[in-house]
Amino acid sequence: MKKIAVFPGSFDPITKGHESIVLRAAPLFDELIVAIGINADKEGFFPLKQRISWIEKTFQDYPNIKVMKYQGLTVDFCKEIGALYILRGLRTSADFEFERSIGQINKQLDQTNEIETVFLLSEMEHTPLNSSIVRSVFQVGGNVSHFIPNAIDLSTYKKDL
Ligand code: ADP
Repeated sequence: MKKIAVFPGSFDPITKGHESIVLRAAPLFDELIVAIGINADKEGFFPLKQRISWIEKTFQDYPNIKVMKYQGLTVDFCKEIGALYILRGLRTSADFEFERSIGQINKQLDQTNEIETVFLLSEMEHTPLNSSIVRSVFQVGGNVSHFIPNAIDLSTYKKDL
């Protein structure tokens, strides 16, 4: 049976922190799905199509890394695609507390009790990094190239505000 993991998030946009977690986890699984969770009430900052294409570009040389979108519960999406692992990154103790409750709730929601959450620690240089900071810097015209994967160029990207 194929070992499939899902890395869920909003990736609005993908950062070097996400990229590092995905690249380090990819050899552990047969397939790793970077899964953008869609919230019907919250559109996100960057358009969904754009976020997907940035992720595709970032991992274009890695055939076992794919990107998908989903709505609803992460565990339901995992069932749908046959994934038994949810991958998450840990930056700080605050992340740990947050992830602990999500992980334990996901265990409750998964009635077959076969999905495990797997954690990788962030690299030291990525600990302060999150998508929200990237958006804030970008919105006021700052250079975000240090924070996002090298494959992405936001310097010429214009967002309709
Ligand atoms: P963000 O925090 O960038 O908005 P999400 O909330 O969509 O990202 O989180 C997706 C996953 O990526 C979570 O497991 C989160 O802990 C992890 N993650 C986010 N930023 C980093 C980072 N800088 N280093 C390691 N993991 C991260």
